[in-house]
Amino acid sequence: MVDRYGRKIDYLRVSITDRCNLRCIYCMPAEGVELKPREEILCFEELLRLIRVATSVGFRKFRLTGGEPLVRKGLIEFIRSLVQLPGVEDLSLTTNGILLPQMAAQLKDAGVRRLNISLDTLNPEKYRELTRGGDFSKVWEGIQKSLDLGFDPVKVNVVILKGFNDQDWVDFAELTCRYPVHVRFIEVMSIGTSREFAEKHFAPASQVRERIEAVLGKLVPVEVVTGSGPARYFQVPGASGKLGFISAVSNHFCSRCNRIRLTADGQLRPCLFDQRELDLRRPLRAGASDQELAEIFRKAISLKPSSYHEAVRLASGGRDMCQIGG
Ligand code: SAM
Ligand code: SF4
Repeated sequence: MVDRYGRKIDYLRVSITDRCNLRCIYCMPAEGVELKPREEILCFEELLRLIRVATSVGFRKFRLTGGEPLVRKGLIEFIRSLVQLPGVEDLSLTTNGILLPQMAAQLKDAGVRRLNISLDTLNPEKYRELTRGGDFSKVWEGIQKSLDLGFDPVKVNVVILKGFNDQDWVDFAELTCRYPVHVRFIEVMSIGTSREFAEKHFAPASQVRERIEAVLGKLVPVEVVTGSGPARYFQVPGASGKLGFISAVSNHFCSRCNRIRLTADGQLRPCLFDQRELDLRRPLRAGASDQELAEIFRKAISLKPSSYHEAVRLASGGRDMCQIGG
């Protein structure tokens, strides 16, 4: 479906849980976020129905996220059913990678082809500090395993945190010389409880690129056809992997936005930066028809603000990324 600003909206990011096995400083408070009561979280059957309805509205690309999607029980069976729905052309998953060593093979077998793994530092001590207890070796093993299994591409998402991971920027770029990974640098966003931390450590993606070019030489722009992301891609000359820069904050890509979000508790969110949500759970559980549910998807698309600035004007603050589905 095309929205009122002429953008084709065909990408649904589906948060399947608000639970997480980490506590990243920029994403949630140390004590965690208040979890929704279990009965408010959509069960897999409900999710499958909504995704089927979404395909009737024109959605073709789906990403599972959270919270941490790999902690949800029954995930593999859910994915097997999901990939069989007519109209689901592309399924990817975003994970912190902690459970990948034991789950990567099952995910591949179930039908996931593309993986985004979040890793903001290559220093195990810093990783533990940033995630409040995470084990770097597990994520690293997960990345290696995903590459061995042939996920294509394996994307490593690095949140830019000036004064925290600047030492890693060039090391991450060098990874693309050794492995066929897409490393994507993402600007930290002031959202939910992360505001203070995000503001303190913000740096534009252009700064990371400059630092990398100062050490590794001029990067070469490249075309990337997989996925639907807003990154601009480059390569270190001769590297097998690629480097992406996502300037969500310094240079909004709103005019190319193709997505809306579904939260784990069944709320449709037209824009990450706009607090407005449309409730799907209640009508779904009250016996709404497919047509009525499809109408709510259409309404969400029609509510998409033209830009980040409009979204911020309409509403701001609210939930953390782990609750919306980053
Ligand atoms: N738990 C999974 C993970 O970490 O990959 C999936 C959910 S997480 C909310 C999705 C992505 O959002 C992660 O790559 C994470 O780094 C990113 N994220 C969370 N809070 C953010 C913030 N304030 N600014 C930028 N990215 C953020
Ligand atoms: Fe959990 Fe992902 Fe948020 Fe980190 S970024 S706390 S792994 S949901």
